[in-house]
Formats: sequence, structure tokens, C-alpha cells
Amino acid sequence: MTSNVTYRIAPATRMANVSYAIRDLAVVADQVARQGHKILYLNIGDPCKFDFPTPPHMIEAVERAIRDGLNGYGESLGEPSAVEAIRSKAEERGFRNIQGIMVGMGSGEVIDNCLTALLNPGDNILTPCPDYPLYGAVLGKLGAELNPYFLSEENNWQPDLDDLAARINPRTKAILLINPNNPTGATYSRATLERVVELARRHGLLILADEIYDKLILDDDREHLSIATLAPDLPVITFNGLSKAYLVPGWRIGWAVATGPAESLGDYLEAVYKLLRARLSAPHPFMYAIAPALLGPQDHLKEVRAKLRRRRDLTVQWAARTPHISLVTPRAAFYAFPKLEVPDDKKFVTELLQQKHVLCVHGSGFGQRPGTCHMRIVYLAQEEVLEEAYSNITDFISRRYND
Ligand code: PLP
Repeated sequence: MTSNVTYRIAPATRMANVSYAIRDLAVVADQVARQGHKILYLNIGDPCKFDFPTPPHMIEAVERAIRDGLNGYGESLGEPSAVEAIRSKAEERGFRNIQGIMVGMGSGEVIDNCLTALLNPGDNILTPCPDYPLYGAVLGKLGAELNPYFLSEENNWQPDLDDLAARINPRTKAILLINPNNPTGATYSRATLERVVELARRHGLLILADEIYDKLILDDDREHLSIATLAPDLPVITFNGLSKAYLVPGWRIGWAVATGPAESLGDYLEAVYKLLRARLSAPHPFMYAIAPALLGPQDHLKEVRAKLRRRRDLTVQWAARTPHISLVTPRAAFYAFPKLEVPDDKKFVTELLQQKHVLCVHGSGFGQRPGTCHMRIVYLAQEEVLEEAYSNITDFISRRYND
């Protein structure tokens, strides 16, 4: 039966605030692929798309859970052995005053719930610029505002703390740090973190610390420092998960650790717990991978870091010899955020995709200082693929931008 009803379902007006640049170029990529071209993907941070196999003991733990019939809903805040493993590892790393641990469907879901429980429409949080777009999407959905502070390229992409301090206003509720950082690959120094703690203390702000890349520090002389360990007397929520270092982004397992004084966090955490109970639980059998991942063998991490280090070095060497590109050496994760001396970065990545079939994301999709242009490269791919992609980019630049 056909219908002649032609009414349209309008999305909520606040959806105009939501965008996700990483997937923006997907339409152009589909066109290029339909023309029969092989695309070199340097755009999505999923190690499973490349040569990073999941540790077998984690797969066995999930298989066992499924066979043992653990297929119903799990505990809303997280399966108890998983919560205990997260707690003991956090304590080992120096976290004190742990007030709550929440397991969710990826750190993304926990981040969403923690922001939802915190912000009224019109409130803001200090977010880095450039930023990981999840935060903007969630804030847009909530009718809350991004209050972006610049990361300073001239200072190895450390937060510009004067800028950050100047932006605090009466509707500011929290400071967000992404450390190690996506999209710049930077790690933050102790001095930077101590100054952020001082600002949070002075202005009564919650610290949100996204540390999902904390185990992917690439240089031996550096260690990851969690801001929570520097501020046991302040409310801090630290996000982490299995997606990146444990190579299972599709399992959708992440968590938050809340630290600080019980009296400053109690009401807020109850509000987060309400949301977590309302959505029932994270995927139950997959929660049984958390304890084996955190407490079991860590051998794969050495291999992952060694591969990433080689791919990072190759990226840095290519950038150093390529005109119109300059790159602050990434120290962690698998992202590089080179500066482009071109007039328009979205045009740059779109034409690069159409003409040379290399897919990167434009810097404007993450935010950047006005007047500057960047692109984000994910250097997870094998060396041969990176070499082909970089040679295509060099070729594209010399044809398109050299006089
Ligand atoms: N935070 C940052 C900085 C990320 O880069 C990502 C994913 O790329 C996430 C959070 C989301 O990760 P998850 O898979 O745990 O939801």
C-alpha cells in the first residue's frame, strides 16, 4: 500500500550545534571509492583496522563469560571484578580518595553521562582547541557551551594557561584536559598540570581528565602523569578504557574514576549513577575482559609502542622534508597534527582525497587558532602504506601549491 502523506519529521533545533568532522569526509570518500580507487585511510583512530591484534587472553575471557551464560544485564556501575581491577590499578598509579568507579559503553558514554549530570543549558566547560569532537557534540546536545582555550603549538601544544585562566566565567563548571592529546599527540608536563590544579582550586572547578591514551607514551624518557595524582583534595574525574591500549574499540568498554573529597563529589556522583542505572548496563560479557586486560600480561603494549614509534618517526621525517608542512613531534597516541601553509585546510584534505585518494581530517574540524591551517594524520597504518600516502601528499602539494 502506498501513502501520500508528505509530512517531515524535524530534528530538534539543538542538533544544529552537533557536528562530527572525523566522519564529514565520508561522503566524498564514498564517491572516490565508487570510482574504483583504493583509499589510503589516515583518518580514524581504530587500531583493529591495522596490524594490531587483540590480546588472545582478553578474547578468551569474553568467550568464557558468554559460554558461562553471563548474557543478561550487568551491574549498572560495572561488574565487580572489573571495578576492583580498575581501582587497584588506579591506586597503584597514585590515585587517592577514590569516590566512585563507573563502567560504560566506551569512555564516550561515560563522558556523555558525566557531562549530562553536570551541565545546565548555558553552562560551559573549558575545552581544548583543537579538541576531540565528541565533547562539542555532547555539549551541543545539552545546550551547554564549549569555552575553548588554545593549545599552544609554539610550546609543544601545551595548554595556553593565560588564555585558559582568562576564559573562566561564572557559568564555567569544569576544565577538560585531554592528556595524552588527540589530535596533537602531546603529553602535558608536571608544571602545566600543577598550574591547572591551582586554577581549578581557585575557581572551584571540576577537573575532567581524558587519559584514554595514557599507556601509549612513545618515548622512554617520558612517563604519563595523571592530574588526579597531583590533586587528591580536588574533585577530578579521569576517563579511560579498553579501546586504544587494549585494542578493542568495538567492544565499547570504558570507565571513569572519580577522586577527591567525598563531600564535594557525593551529590554529583549520585546524579551520574542515576543516568547509569537508567541505561541498565555496559555490555555485560565484555566487562569480563577488564580485569584480565589490566591485571594480566601487558606484553602486547611493548610491541604496540615499538610499531607506533617507527610510524611516528617516519611521519616526523617526512614532514621535515616536505614544503608547506611543519610538525611538532607527537609524543604519544597515534596522531600527528601538522601545520599547513595553505589558505584552506578543508579544501586541502578534500582535494587530496579526490586527487590522491589519501583520507585525512581537516584541522578546522577540531578547531585551531584563527589564521592557521592543519590536518590530522592517524599514523596507525603499516609503514608501506604510510610511505605511499606521504609520497602522494608530497606530490599533491608540489603540483597544487608550488609556484
Ligand atoms: N577520548 C578521546 C580523546 C578519544 O580520542 C576517543 C576516541 O577516539 C574517545 C575518548 C572515545 O573512546 P571510547 O572508544 O572509549 O568511547
